[in-house]
Amino acid sequence: MKIKISEHSGFCFGVKRAMDIVLSNAKDKDKKIATLGPLIHNPQVVEDLKEKGVEVTSEIDKFYDKIIMPSHGVPKEFFKKCENLGIEAIDATCPFVEAVHEKVVEYKKAGLKIVIVGDAGHSEVKGIMSSADNDCIVISSIEDVDKYDFKKKKLGIVSQTTNSPKYFGEVVGKIAQIADEITVANTICYATHKRQAAAHDLAPNVDVMLVVGGKNSANTNRLFQICKEMNPHTYHIETDEEISGEMFENCDTVGITAGASTPDYIIEDICKKIDKISLSPKP
Ligand code: SF4
Repeated sequence: MKIKISEHSGFCFGVKRAMDIVLSNAKDKDKKIATLGPLIHNPQVVEDLKEKGVEVTSEIDKFYDKIIMPSHGVPKEFFKKCENLGIEAIDATCPFVEAVHEKVVEYKKAGLKIVIVGDAGHSEVKGIMSSADNDCIVISSIEDVDKYDFKKKKLGIVSQTTNSPKYFGEVVGKIAQIADEITVANTICYATHKRQAAAHDLAPNVDVMLVVGGKNSANTNRLFQICKEMNPHTYHIETDEEISGEMFENCDTVGITAGASTPDYIIEDICKKIDKISLSPKP
């Protein structure tokens, strides 16, 4: 069987960078280290990091010497809290998320009212809000626009990095019809969209499509949906252990894509297992 790996599959730039930061800190065996929340939604990776001495904490706890902040960023108060407790805060915020914070600070200095288009309950948005000193409006749906009086306002609008360009455009378009003046920064990160587009193109051109990633990972589940629509012989798996010969009957080509939280070694193990099945004699 021929294996085709989809472009842009697996770790995005920001997650890879955060993982490198965690692994280099894990070498410091004398220190108690934790990530604030799981680094990524992948149980194998979380377990692997635990074996390397990196725990997961849900709060800033002085039990730890070092706490690593996640790639989607945190409210700036968290850094202050670490400082007050004598904990070393390691910042693994993705530079694309950092860029949203910087835009917010710039717009606030220019006297604009900050509008964040994003999910109000999401950690990334909570972090961005803190850069506006929580003096901002969060738009979580197109209907939310009607809740605010934007007339005679000068607004600085940014987007949560994971929004779809279509949705962000719709919200901005609706606000533009009401507000006096708007300044907009397109702060969307296109890693997710590139991954989805590549998987969408590959799935119909292979006999079997495998989508690899945590069953609780939202971006992997979305990839699975996209591929399943394009190819009914699509399977969502977390590791090579879920692969069996029956999946590949009359199959010449296998496509593989993976969510943002899937490390390369899991994809490599899957390729090895497919090769093994491919080479084993047919009954
Ligand atoms: S999806 Fe984009 S913004 Fe989010 S961590 Fe990855 S590269 Fe950074």
